[in-house]
Amino acid sequence: MPSEPTVLIHGDAWKCADIADQIAACRTHTWRREHWQRRPALVHRVGGTVALYHGQTFDPAKIDLVPYGWSHDHCAICWWTLHDSGSDEELIGYTDERGDWVCAECYQQFLDTNSNATGNA
Ligand SMILES: [Zn+2]
Repeated sequence: MPSEPTVLIHGDAWKCADIADQIAACRTHTWRREHWQRRPALVHRVGGTVALYHGQTFDPAKIDLVPYGWSHDHCAICWWTLHDSGSDEELIGYTDERGDWVCAECYQQFLDTNSNATGNA
């Protein structure tokens, strides 16, 4: 069986083919480095479904607005968890205009256009 090209992210080997689509999508966004922070969330009283609150209308009879209810985000490429209780690796990421996140490691490996790490320059 031919070995597929892999890349290490947070110490785990990922098949390049499995994350190529996510990387291509993320390259069309503009990212800025930020400390991850908890944000308001809408929590359904029945079932507990949680949605990020960004000013949308909601039914207060069915849904609670929880000021710090958004407890984590996932990297759009490797699904790494960004949250506020860990090391810099878990706290510092890159976010775009839509509120998506990527971890610093994925950003540096795949999205940082100032880096020649993955180019042929
Ligand atoms: Zn990542």
